[in-house]
Amino acid sequence: MENEEQKQKRRKRVKRLKKMILATVALAILVPFLFSIVFGVQLHKKAKYISSLEKKVQMLLQENEKLQTDFDTLSEHFSRQEQSRVNQSDADPDPEKQTGEKMEFSSDAENKTGSEIPAEGIRKVYLTFDDGPSIYTEQILDVLKEYHVKATFFVVGKTEARYEAVYRRIVDEGHTLGMHSFSHKYNEIYASEEAFAADLEALRSFLKEKTGVECRFSRFPGGSSNTVSNVDMNRLITYLNEQGITYFDWNISSGDATSGYISKNRIIQNCTESLANYETAVILLHDSGEREETVKALPELIEKIQEMENTVLLPISEETKLIQHIKSESEE
Ligand SMILES: [Zn+2]
Repeated sequence: MENEEQKQKRRKRVKRLKKMILATVALAILVPFLFSIVFGVQLHKKAKYISSLEKKVQMLLQENEKLQTDFDTLSEHFSRQEQSRVNQSDADPDPEKQTGEKMEFSSDAENKTGSEIPAEGIRKVYLTFDDGPSIYTEQILDVLKEYHVKATFFVVGKTEARYEAVYRRIVDEGHTLGMHSFSHKYNEIYASEEAFAADLEALRSFLKEKTGVECRFSRFPGGSSNTVSNVDMNRLITYLNEQGITYFDWNISSGDATSGYISKNRIIQNCTESLANYETAVILLHDSGEREETVKALPELIEKIQEMENTVLLPISEETKLIQHIKSESEE
């Protein structure tokens, strides 16, 4: 009897044990399974979040490039406005010194008739290339040659032997060789009037030696309206005047020196969208190893300008109307 009862109990215990083992096994399978589902969902959410962030970053970057270009356009616009204000208040009697002057017709002059351009009004466009020579100078020169265009190169001092022929080619093919800076290091050339003079003299004699040309034109790195110079720019302008050197700024910027990528089409657009409003347009372009899009833009840019009526492309000369961003007052 007792034996039977004990057997019964053992069976029950064995059953319970089996249940427990089964439960444990089930849990051991279910828990990681559920865990991986939860974890997977979270991972998916995170991936979606990251990709939406990436999209946002992409949009912001594009927005930034657009803003940068708009900002450049606006600052040039304001500097031109400031310029004409200064000119008015100075009441300079010499019409050659009136700079950034717009032609006497409205922007709808873009219509192809050209009838609103004064009979004697020939629009003069000057393509200017800063920072060369570079790996692209020869290509730029090839394009200019193909279109029979003379331009202006505001060069820097490149002592590598391979550039000697490039300096000479600029001169030989009838372009204007202008000075930019030997070192192009803002912190050095704008540290003092003496440093500026030494840099320019180094470039002047270097170019004279390489090409035989006595340069008469220059462009300040960053333009005369730059805000990085430690020296009052008026002092440097006086220095240039004393040296018989004429400096040129620009009234149209291609935008090809912006920090980010700028497309060939954007460069063409920047150069041509307001061109019809100018009697004299000095266009700022760059001849540098980082500016491949400028080279790509050049043929179409020239074609567009050559298609404009009463318009000529010229190299800077003594006859060129001065385009200068003169600062109104010396800075404190
Ligand atoms: Zn430069």
